[in-house]
Amino acid sequence: MNFEDLLGNEAVLSLLRRGRLPQASVFAGPEGIGKKTSALLLAAWANCKAPCGNDLCGRCPSCFKAQGGNHPDIRLYQPEGASDSIKIEAMREMSREAQYRPFEGKLRFFIIDEAEKMNEAAANSILKTLEEPPETSRLILVCSAPQRLLATIRSRCQTFRFRPLTHNQIIDALNRQGYEEEAERRASFAEGSLGKALSLDLDQAVADRDRVFGLLADWRKHSSFLKLYQACEIEPMRSDLKKRARVRLLLKQLQVLAQDLYFLQVGTDGRVANQDRLADLQELAQEVELDWLSRFLYHVAEAQKDVDRYVSPLMCFETLWLQCRPGSEMGLHAADRYSQV
Ligand SMILES: [Zn+2]
Repeated sequence: MNFEDLLGNEAVLSLLRRGRLPQASVFAGPEGIGKKTSALLLAAWANCKAPCGNDLCGRCPSCFKAQGGNHPDIRLYQPEGASDSIKIEAMREMSREAQYRPFEGKLRFFIIDEAEKMNEAAANSILKTLEEPPETSRLILVCSAPQRLLATIRSRCQTFRFRPLTHNQIIDALNRQGYEEEAERRASFAEGSLGKALSLDLDQAVADRDRVFGLLADWRKHSSFLKLYQACEIEPMRSDLKKRARVRLLLKQLQVLAQDLYFLQVGTDGRVANQDRLADLQELAQEVELDWLSRFLYHVAEAQKDVDRYVSPLMCFETLWLQCRPGSEMGLHAADRYSQV
């Protein structure tokens, strides 16, 4: 893979290749839009033995090692599992390694993926390295939630924003790859990521989306926890809600649906992701107040954080709805959630 294969973010990538990559930087932007890939490509390009203009050659020994993930001057750090943090031991090792000169390339790269998952001790341990890295070392913090980085980290790095691809860019790319028939629907679940558009299980995504859409419409109509609870007891929902990864996906679908309702409310229909359910969304949008929507989106985001922390995924999913009873001004306090059921 080289820069030519990478879609979107041309401006920021060309800026970075014009010798503007600072010693410490944050690559910020939504998940799955190529931030880590861009960081790895920049590292490979900077060390390529025979770069072709603005791109790497892909054939030299350095490019081979970079593609195989075993270039001694390109180090990638990331959490071991989805709910793991990046530990201080790993960051201490990185700070040590960053002091060395390149083994065989021109620059040493240290790429920390999901950098917001550094725990506080880990983050504090790299402050000094970020402040004065050796001339030949580059540190890149890849991050989808830069606001969760310590302020002391952010102030030592230059931030570059990466943007998702547009709906139409994804459709074009899918068409070129022979997905004409499914392009529109795949793009609607892709959240700006071509990788996701290509790899997702379309039938599963549609079924998930329809299921949570049903819950959302029902909640707005009846706001009955009993009905919600019963819907969550029916398979496959019942099994899904026991699995963190599945709940994460369902929450994501809910988030996109709620965003769609928001776009309809503010009159930007073109930004609606779930175009195939446009008529149903328009109907629901008429019954929903903007206030409630922003509250709902807030609690979905909270549930997304909770699901990766400690709460049981089922409880996390059910609590979300209780926090967002239509008409109620404030979310319920945690202790009241179940007593009011
Ligand atoms: Zn090369």
